Amino acid sequence: MTAKIISGKEIATRLREEMKLEVEKLKSQGVTPGLAVILVGDDPASHSYVKGKKKGCEEVGIYNRSIEVPATLTEEELLGMIDELNNDDSIHGILVQLPLPNHIEEKKVIERISPEKDVDGFHPINVGRMMTGQKAFLPCTPFGILKMVQLQNIDIEGKHVVVVGRSNIVGKPVGQLFLNENATVTYCHSRTKDLKEITTQADILIVAVGRANFIGKDHIKEGAVVIDVGVNRLETGKLCGDVIFDEGLEVASYITPVPGGVGPLTITMLLYNTIESAKQKIGVRS
Ligand code: NDP
Repeated sequence: MTAKIISGKEIATRLREEMKLEVEKLKSQGVTPGLAVILVGDDPASHSYVKGKKKGCEEVGIYNRSIEVPATLTEEELLGMIDELNNDDSIHGILVQLPLPNHIEEKKVIERISPEKDVDGFHPINVGRMMTGQKAFLPCTPFGILKMVQLQNIDIEGKHVVVVGRSNIVGKPVGQLFLNENATVTYCHSRTKDLKEITTQADILIVAVGRANFIGKDHIKEGAVVIDVGVNRLETGKLCGDVIFDEGLEVASYITPVPGGVGPLTITMLLYNTIESAKQKIGVRS
């Protein structure tokens, strides 16, 4: 079997085309969706993510306010900036790029963002709403993964989804989203015994570990759907996922590449959440 490659890039392009039209419609109703991104310090990876977010906003017509501040910013100052953005009517989404310098407590910062503008879906109120199946801003990477699978018309209900990784931003919420869609979900992590025995039971295998070449063909059931979330930089400078791609291609029915798989969907869902927030503000139901 040669797996079908799911192109996140193509899906993201299609979704962004649709979003462009939505934004035009909102503008004609007098509302321009606005996203504020705060970047503290000068971590190169964070800079590049923020650049991607800005570009995404420009592409679909979202107003983007990038706020870059030095790593010496105090926690109080950052919380004050968030308060201002919470009260700013031109801003519908607020994102503070993580990680933050050690002297700033991430939890405090996330909790300060109004849940109505928390387009990253990290605020405990949105996490709780997601857990209980209520309408919520869904965290962007897990939301993108779900969207990708749904747009390929892959059945989720009753399927065994195995998630390798249990971080708060990827592993845990992605399992929850598939559970909400009536999958049977198993989580694996660093203390899991006999990983292969579990991953080979997966109809849909989602890998979010952050280790190159971690999953090979003997971890994958013939015909499984393999979603590779990992982004690892090799010594050669090349990016790769957690799954040995060529081996995955041999046994899976569908597989996502790295780069060009889950990554492009992440920013796309951030744009989606920002548009949703603007729609909610003017009472448009979606
Ligand atoms: P974390 O480091 O927060 O979590 C990694 C998870 O992998 C942990 O739950 C850990 O288990 C688990 N793990 C580590 N070693 C093993 C092992 N030997 N066996 C089984 N599980 C193991 O990473 P993130 O969730 O933040 O990110 C994961 C990957 O996804 C990274 O490569 C990251 O760059 C990428 N990523 C990609 C995004 C995209 O848009 N494409 C967005 C976000 C992340 P334990 O909890 O027990 O320590």
